Amino acid sequence: MRLLITGGAGFLGSHLCERFVNDGHEVLAADNLITGSKENIRALLKRKKFRFIRRDVSEAFVVPQKLDAILHFASPASPPDYLKRPIETLKAGAMGTHRLLEIARQKKCAFLLASTSEVYGDPLVNPQKESYWGNVNPVGPRSVYDEAKRFAEALTMAYHRRHGVDTKIVRIFNTYGPRMNPEDGRVIPNFITQALAGKPLTLYGDGSQTRSYAYVDDLVEGITRLLFSKFHGPVNVGNPNEMTVKKLADLILEITGSKSKKVHRPLPVDDPKRRRPDIALAKKILNWTPAVPLKEGLAKTIFYFEKKIRG
Ligand code: UDP
Repeated sequence: MRLLITGGAGFLGSHLCERFVNDGHEVLAADNLITGSKENIRALLKRKKFRFIRRDVSEAFVVPQKLDAILHFASPASPPDYLKRPIETLKAGAMGTHRLLEIARQKKCAFLLASTSEVYGDPLVNPQKESYWGNVNPVGPRSVYDEAKRFAEALTMAYHRRHGVDTKIVRIFNTYGPRMNPEDGRVIPNFITQALAGKPLTLYGDGSQTRSYAYVDDLVEGITRLLFSKFHGPVNVGNPNEMTVKKLADLILEITGSKSKKVHRPLPVDDPKRRRPDIALAKKILNWTPAVPLKEGLAKTIFYFEKKIRG
């Protein structure tokens, strides 16, 4: 197969590129490098079946080659990153998705959208099933990401219904692993870099809010299975192992052996209080469940950050 992966130099995008090249496919990665990094694809650049182009998906975009699938992973994804780049984030989800769906329609190829658990906003039900419509503030600061992805999902379903495009939508829950940017401001990179530097771990609010963290290899497996499935609606892919931010901080202190203290900082606006995926659908249609325990995944991630920090 020949695949176009947008956001191919990002955290998830680069892992997907690696997976598909290793499986013998040809991969064209596109990225404007505003949050992605060439460092993430350094080893891939030497592979014959991999090619990188620097492109912004929200600008005019021509792909001369035949394609079998497009995976749209281009977007800032960490809250500090998308809050810093609100317009770019909306454009990547809206114009970017539109341009890529048009290419998929013209080339008659599959289209997989990287969506997010943020479509559920600050959920009023827990865990979240795909059938839950969410509780999103449409004009709050986070709306630049949440509403862009909700629009992207709506557009994807419209192209499926109106033009018969073979679409898939993955709703990605919190994911971590090697190649996350240590400075992207998300909770796991923050806590690990703080613990390794002996600095205080910054808990936003009282730290009682929950998330459920999936290791990147589990995500890549779920997304790969979804691409080859016949299912067109949204599918949650994440790890249902829900825990408070405070407990995560303690776990990272335990694994790193750090003596760092914990300090409290203000809770970001509209920060969801609970988040946990219901993965019954993914289990049923993809025969997929996450396999990597949190302690093991965190240990691998800590090892990566230690190496990166030491240079
Ligand atoms: N968080 C925190 N300290 C940090 C960074 C984040 O307590 O240094 C909290 C944040 O308020 C949220 C959770 O950790 O409740 C996950 O935040 P992240 O930015 O990783 O992703 P989100 O799930 O909010 O998109």
